[in-house]
Amino acid sequence: MSTTPRESDPADVLARLEAEAREKARRRDLAADGDERSDAHHHPAEAATDAERRERDLRALLRLRDQEERARRAREAVEAGTYGVCVDCGEAIPEARLKVMPDADRCVACASRAGRGRR
Ligand SMILES: [Zn+2]
Repeated sequence: MSTTPRESDPADVLARLEAEAREKARRRDLAADGDERSDAHHHPAEAATDAERRERDLRALLRLRDQEERARRAREAVEAGTYGVCVDCGEAIPEARLKVMPDADRCVACASRAGRGRR
């Protein structure tokens, strides 16, 4: 058995990220349900702000789902032994980047390229 202490095993970190995102998304889902039920009592003038808030909630929920999905994919990469390798250029993603962003699947250069491409 290995005695090397690993304070931050990526698989553990990612499993925690995934669970956190799932839990937050679940709570948002419940909150959204609550909004729906109380709709009948709202004044029509509040409808617009309600719609805006729901849209914001939905976006936050989608972001959490995305977070969960990314963490899950990164965890699969750990199992497959491809974790920490940029999916675009195949270069190793710097340790420092993985530390602040454990679910990163691209190096800084490729991530900013991909980000620009999407916008
Ligand atoms: Zn890259």
